[in-house]
Amino acid sequence: MENLKGVPVVISAFGGVGKGAIINELVKDEEYVFSISATSRKMRKEDIEGKTYFFKTREEFENMIRRNELLEWVEFCGNYYGTPKGYIEQQMNDNKNVLLDIEEVGAIKIKETYKDVALIYVMPPSLEELIFRLKKRGETEKYINTRIAKAKQQVGLVDYYDYIIINDKLNVAIQEIKNIVKTSKQKVVKNKELIGRIKEELENVKTII
Ligand code: 5GP
Repeated sequence: MENLKGVPVVISAFGGVGKGAIINELVKDEEYVFSISATSRKMRKEDIEGKTYFFKTREEFENMIRRNELLEWVEFCGNYYGTPKGYIEQQMNDNKNVLLDIEEVGAIKIKETYKDVALIYVMPPSLEELIFRLKKRGETEKYINTRIAKAKQQVGLVDYYDYIIINDKLNVAIQEIKNIVKTSKQKVVKNKELIGRIKEELENVKTII
């Protein structure tokens, strides 16, 4: 059977848009797995070692960079974040679509290695709605202002992404992402082997008419 390889799928968003909920929902489907990043940031109460991140000291992280173990890495808000290489490759060979929750600079770098990556940016229905959701979540005004200031920087890189999803209704957003992934599997870059085989067969075929 052709086309057995899964697709790498990057999901990025401004803070508070609901990226986490989308990823949690997608991994309930056995065709999807989450790429666990390495980071040098401190653990938060919701973190679980080896589930949310692989937590490293700065020195350990720098050793990973030196040993070329990361597909991409960035220094973000004073901490290192990076995507370990091996897991993604192994999962895609196993026909799993690999979800990467990474920031914009790293996301764009991924495309240098994986031409077939689907870079998805999740947007709120409106800025007003985003602020409303953050307030409803009980976030302080100071925090909301920081998120907005950050979004102003982030939005400049959205042009490099491939797809926009609006997170208005979660189930609709999930279905739209699944449709994108399905279509990504049919891209020409994803089917080089099949195309090569057909070309070879065409070269060798004896004309029958
Ligand atoms: P947090 O510290 O809140 O978990 O994550 C901060 C930011 O780092 C988020 O935007 C997240 O998407 C991003 N991030 C997490 N892992 C990686 C990674 O492996 N590479 C890159 N480039 N960004 C990451």
